[in-house]
Amino acid sequence: MTKNLILALAATLFFSSLASSQDSRVLAEATRISGDRFAVAAVTPRGAHVYAVSGPSVAVLNAVDKGLGDLFAVARKNGYYRRLKYSDYSIYIARADRTRDYKGDYSPDIAVGAAQYTGSVYDQGGFIYAAGIVISNDPCSLLIAEHSKNIDRISNVVRYEGEHLVLYHNDRRRYMATMDHSRGGAHPILQ
Ligand SMILES: [Zn+2]
Repeated sequence: MTKNLILALAATLFFSSLASSQDSRVLAEATRISGDRFAVAAVTPRGAHVYAVSGPSVAVLNAVDKGLGDLFAVARKNGYYRRLKYSDYSIYIARADRTRDYKGDYSPDIAVGAAQYTGSVYDQGGFIYAAGIVISNDPCSLLIAEHSKNIDRISNVVRYEGEHLVLYHNDRRRYMATMDHSRGGAHPILQ
């Protein structure tokens, strides 16, 4: 066996043991919504957890950090200090269910069962397309779509959907008032 192969095997074992340390309830939710298998586990340079179908590139990991950094900055500005560590957050990156929006612009999104959005402007016939969604408030976990370009959009999705998590842990009344976009209200919630 060559040295390279041994290293590759060691890396595989490392990744699979990381993958098995995912919160099993959150993983089940990410799998249920996306139908994907999250085989790759990574940690961003600042310590956030990323679980992906494939990849993720360094640019994607940095984009996650940028989004969380922006989120933490605006949270502090609003007087919210709980759950502002990068390691508090897990980002699941699924295959996109569409890569273009109705205008034809590049917009990797995930189809999510409509539930409370039925009949609203977001309803696509039983489901909606979302750039990202909260899959668990505790531990703080988001599901977003893979991007092959326009990586900056990942930062925005993380920063915006992360608002729900910051509010859940810091201001439950404001969280309840803003969690459901079907009655209006959009991001950014925190200015
Ligand atoms: Zn939202």
